[in-house]
Amino acid sequence: MNYNIAVIKGDGIGPEIVSEAMLVLEKIGEKFGHTFKFQEVLAGGCSIDANGIPLTDETIEICKNADSVLLGAVGGPKWDNVPSAKRPEKALLGLRAALGLFANIRPAMMYKALADACPIKKEIIGDGFDIVVCRELTGDVYFGNHYRKESDCGWGEMGCDDMNYSVYEVERIARRAFEMARVRSKKVTSVDKANVLETSRVWRETVTRIAAEYPDVELQHMYVDNAAMQLVHSPGQFDVLLTGNLFGDILSDEASMITGSIGMLPSASIGETGRGMYEPIHGSAPDIAGKGIANPIATILSCAMMLRYSFGLSAEADAIEQAVGKALDNGCRTADIASPGQTALSTSEMGQVIRDLI
Ligand code: NAD
Repeated sequence: MNYNIAVIKGDGIGPEIVSEAMLVLEKIGEKFGHTFKFQEVLAGGCSIDANGIPLTDETIEICKNADSVLLGAVGGPKWDNVPSAKRPEKALLGLRAALGLFANIRPAMMYKALADACPIKKEIIGDGFDIVVCRELTGDVYFGNHYRKESDCGWGEMGCDDMNYSVYEVERIARRAFEMARVRSKKVTSVDKANVLETSRVWRETVTRIAAEYPDVELQHMYVDNAAMQLVHSPGQFDVLLTGNLFGDILSDEASMITGSIGMLPSASIGETGRGMYEPIHGSAPDIAGKGIANPIATILSCAMMLRYSFGLSAEADAIEQAVGKALDNGCRTADIASPGQTALSTSEMGQVIRDLI
């Protein structure tokens, strides 16, 4: 099969890590008989430099016409002082909206070989954990009205942000979570604050109703404050963590941090169509950009997610994930995950090791 992939290398370490990931896809193509055609486009800081804006209509069109989008990372100190409407990160919001991407999928798993990097005690992590955070991306308080007004009781100006969720928005993200759980450990933990928020009560009622369509999947409801505690207390209890936009923003970072290795974690943003946007969870790491030492694994694993979720190529996705696992088991490490005294591979050496194991 032929697949067209729009590639946004972005800023900072983006070009270094995405180049390795593209080579991995080419290796998969050779082995399994697929052709991946890449079309590189600009977004983020590099687009501001070239076009004066972080996201052009041309980039949006090319991404819309592609089968999927691979993204490195955008942003960096060079663009920190541009007006907020033109910041590099605006490109991500623009792309998500233009491509109708409403679900953000972030696996957070602990590789046994990297157990020492996990900040949680060994007695707590036990056999490790394998969580997928399924976060709604286009609703909630981030997309409600933001305004200021005078407080009624003379306390001065107040900031207001409307939080809302419609039944439709909750239904479609809930179905994604249950479908994902079906091919994993068959458990969804839905996170809300239904003891306080009306938005959360709509969320909980809707998730409960959708759960009836998936009798083989266990549903648990959990308040967000408890979920934040349970993630560090016993992360092994979670399979799919279903959350709204605000709670998911915080919990997905917490789930990532307990793996101990930000350079290892991929993510997918998906919508109704097969097309998605796949990117590492980390940023553009300006402190190490250009040094050839960035860890390319998160981006390489993002390609595995693309193969599985957008193209339905499970065996090919497994091949990438297994190669990464073997590279780690063989002691291969980039600087961010190396133990003291351990030799660190460069970005391209790690990419090559993984390709050789496919
Ligand atoms: P960051 O994730 O870029 O870096 C945090 C730390 O992790 C740094 O020490 C960095 O060197 C390290 N790190 C990150 N990825 C790594 C990798 N692959 N290998 C080895 N080490 C790695 O976060 P930050 O410093 O807060 O942000 C830097 C820039 O990235 C900012 O402009 C921010 O807005 C942007 N950003 C972009 C995205 C995105 O494009 N999706 C996400 C987050 C941050």
